[in-house]
Amino acid sequence: MNPRTLPLRALLFLGLWHAGRRSLASAPELQDQPKKIAVVGAGIGGTSAAFYLRQEFGAGVKIDVFEPGDVGGRLATVRIGDHEYETGGAVIHPLNLHMKHFIEKLGIPPRTNVPSKMAIFDGKELTFVESDWFIVNFLRMLWRFGFSYIRMHMWVESVLDKFMRIYQYQQYGYTFSSVDKLLHAMGGDAFLTMLNQTLEETMMDEGFSQVFLNDIVAPIARVNYGQSVRINGFVGAVSLAGADPGLWAVDGGNKRVCSGLLYNSKSELIAARVTSISLKVRPSKTGNTASFYEVSYVGEAGSAHSLYDIVVIATPLHQGKSDIAFSGFSPPIPSHYPGRYHQTVSTLVHGMLDMSYLGTTQPASEFTVSDILTKDSKDSVINSLSSLDPVHIPQGYKRPPASQTKVWKVFSPKPLSQEQLRDMFLSWDSVSETQWLAYPSYSPPHRNTPPFILHDRLYYLNAVEWAASAMEMSSISARNVALLAHHRWHQQVGNIDQEDLHTRLRGEL
Ligand SMILES: Cc1cc2nc3c(=O)[nH]c(=O)nc-3n(C[C@H](O)[C@H](O)[C@H](O)COP(=O)(O)OP(=O)(O)OC[C@H]3O[C@@H](n4cnc5c(N)ncnc54)[C@H](O)[C@@H]3O)c2cc1C
Repeated sequence: MNPRTLPLRALLFLGLWHAGRRSLASAPELQDQPKKIAVVGAGIGGTSAAFYLRQEFGAGVKIDVFEPGDVGGRLATVRIGDHEYETGGAVIHPLNLHMKHFIEKLGIPPRTNVPSKMAIFDGKELTFVESDWFIVNFLRMLWRFGFSYIRMHMWVESVLDKFMRIYQYQQYGYTFSSVDKLLHAMGGDAFLTMLNQTLEETMMDEGFSQVFLNDIVAPIARVNYGQSVRINGFVGAVSLAGADPGLWAVDGGNKRVCSGLLYNSKSELIAARVTSISLKVRPSKTGNTASFYEVSYVGEAGSAHSLYDIVVIATPLHQGKSDIAFSGFSPPIPSHYPGRYHQTVSTLVHGMLDMSYLGTTQPASEFTVSDILTKDSKDSVINSLSSLDPVHIPQGYKRPPASQTKVWKVFSPKPLSQEQLRDMFLSWDSVSETQWLAYPSYSPPHRNTPPFILHDRLYYLNAVEWAASAMEMSSISARNVALLAHHRWHQQVGNIDQEDLHTRLRGEL
């Protein structure tokens, strides 16, 4: 991607943001507003859903957010010494406009940028080490892969151009009832094809070679999704966008956005696990019947239940991720949809790297690479090894070279044994391990993406992760679901699943 094109494009879309042009969306509000909304889960999906639900339904509705663990979910930090470090979702793309909008709205600065440098490891030795000089990297890539590297960035940019359409649609109040329809509105049949074929197939169709896929694309997929080039083409493109310049993070930790959004949305946080959601039908004042969702939950104070007009599920409905029983629904709603979540173990080691592990003779005092990606080979025990900077960069901070004891983050599919740690590190004084069920295990074709609409006023945000899992994807889905909830409540069907929006809205720019 050409970084010079970023500010212009970002400004264009951010301009739309603030213009507040919802004239196409607003229709006379004929019905009462809902009184109570429940959101299940306080990760970035649930908290941004609370934010957008407040925006859509106004001050009168009570919003309860249920969360048994820490606010932030898969955005989490651990303390090592005097500093905190990201252990879950870490980097944000410069064109992730919802995340950008949130920090602006909440008055949280981005983290100070520390320049990064990348290397690729095949399990035995470093096969590529980025130079400090752009021209050297450019010539090396040109020599080894011809124009493939540039073409990859161009391809990702063309996908991103279409992806960006969602911001315009949402700004005008348009929403989609399924993941497929959302993707189709952004990128037409091409995006659906990408969803149902592997990244390998997608890129081969675009003319990329197997060598390029093995040497460059696979290491990027492994660091971002812990999986091979057989992930779907759409999440693959999202993953490759993670190799763009200008990636950022939130000062003090990405999870700050979640607590900020909760506060901003004036929602009530209920520290409890939702155990079941049942459909209840009650007589209403008018003599008709009204239906509600009874949410049952367990917290420290014991178990309780409450009735809600609208419920948004903002946690994956998959084995190992949540266990909510749904009752009274026809057709029945499963507690778990098919497909499983992929394990990535994040191990933070405060220690001294053993350079011989990387098969390099380069002196540790000169080794300043921050991100070591790995090739997909039987010798690769780890998915990546990164020199980690704290979530708040102190003034005058310089990333220490590998000769100093510092914090390293290892991503691996399984917990590291003591022996594996000894292979990698000469010494260490702390090891902190988090076992994540991190993102879906992608194996296209995945023709049965879970629905956004589970029942009349019961929505499921994390269905979007089967297209791609990322903070921005959960935020996009949160806004989509908030708009769906609003329009379906007020029967504004003209704003749902509109075809050919891109052409129709072109004249509005
Ligand atoms: C190691 C790792 C690295 C990653 N790197 C990146 C990255 O660099 N960039 C990026 O954009 N994304 C990254 N991701 C993905 C990103 O973190 C997720 O896509 C995103 O955080 C998902 O947010 P969410 O709110 O949808 O789900 P979650 O964060 O999982 O939130 C769901 C919440 O629901 C709660 N919950 C579960 N069951 C119940 C229940 N029964 N009742 C009430 N609450 C419940 C959970 O406790 C949890 O807090 C990474 C993820 C991992 C794990």
